[in-house]
Amino acid sequence: MEIIPVDDHITAIDHDLLNRPGVGVTYVVRGDDIALVETGTPLTASATLAGLDQLGIAREAVGHILCTHIHVDHAGGAGLLAAALPRATVYIHSMTAPHLVDPSRLIASSRRAIGEKAWPLHGDMQPVPKERICSAESLRLDLGQDVVLEAILTPGHSPDHLSYRERRSGGLFIGDAAGLDMPHYKLFFPCTPPPTYDLEAQRNTIAMLQQQDISRLYVTHCGPHDDVEEKLRMAHEKLEELVEIVYAALEAGDEDIPAINARWLPEARQDYPGALIAESWGEMSVAGLMRYEKKRRERTA
Ligand SMILES: [Zn+2]
Repeated sequence: MEIIPVDDHITAIDHDLLNRPGVGVTYVVRGDDIALVETGTPLTASATLAGLDQLGIAREAVGHILCTHIHVDHAGGAGLLAAALPRATVYIHSMTAPHLVDPSRLIASSRRAIGEKAWPLHGDMQPVPKERICSAESLRLDLGQDVVLEAILTPGHSPDHLSYRERRSGGLFIGDAAGLDMPHYKLFFPCTPPPTYDLEAQRNTIAMLQQQDISRLYVTHCGPHDDVEEKLRMAHEKLEELVEIVYAALEAGDEDIPAINARWLPEARQDYPGALIAESWGEMSVAGLMRYEKKRRERTA
């Protein structure tokens, strides 16, 4: 676990997602009240709590836990964190809130998407009591001291994806809406997972974000980035690169996902420090975009 100072009122806790530094963070946002943005997985919850201890934040002081979407590395730790933070309300899009109350279907679907190699690094998801969940799609949360979090719809990566704008810094908690950016592993690629990835929605989301005035991106994987325009341009470019590779594979009748991913992300080779991420999340992305495109072609055939 590592504490990463971001702003005077925002701190990131690197909670060692996938047992590695530089892969995932939970953000701590402080006004008069305190909110966490993103929960990590069940396995990272203890590191997040240790981070709060190190920051001198009492368990009763956290009023809110905001999830950008239902995936297990963003909302999977919600059950354990809610149990440890007795006052906190959990926020997520109402579309997927039922999966926090009963995670059984989510666990099965996540396991299929993530693959057997990386799945043991996620942990067992605990349910969140229904009365502690609030729908987040029109959230406007005033924490005091001009710190206000507002939800904006950013679908594509998943249909329930929300990002949260923070008024005092002008930054955006972007979740996975424009992909991942891990300087620690020199990895930058869009994450387009099955079964609900939507290419048109993500293209629209990235274009919409490019029109906004955003001072900083608080990326979940992993860390704050100030060069917003360049990051969004790269996100668009890298997405279109994957689209071209997947289209070419489909034309050739090639559905060898590991081989397609290795052409897209050569970092998936075994001797690279971020190989597990490039392999697991890269193959998940190739599979998700391929599934989306095959279904789209079936519909229009
Ligand atoms: Zn996700």
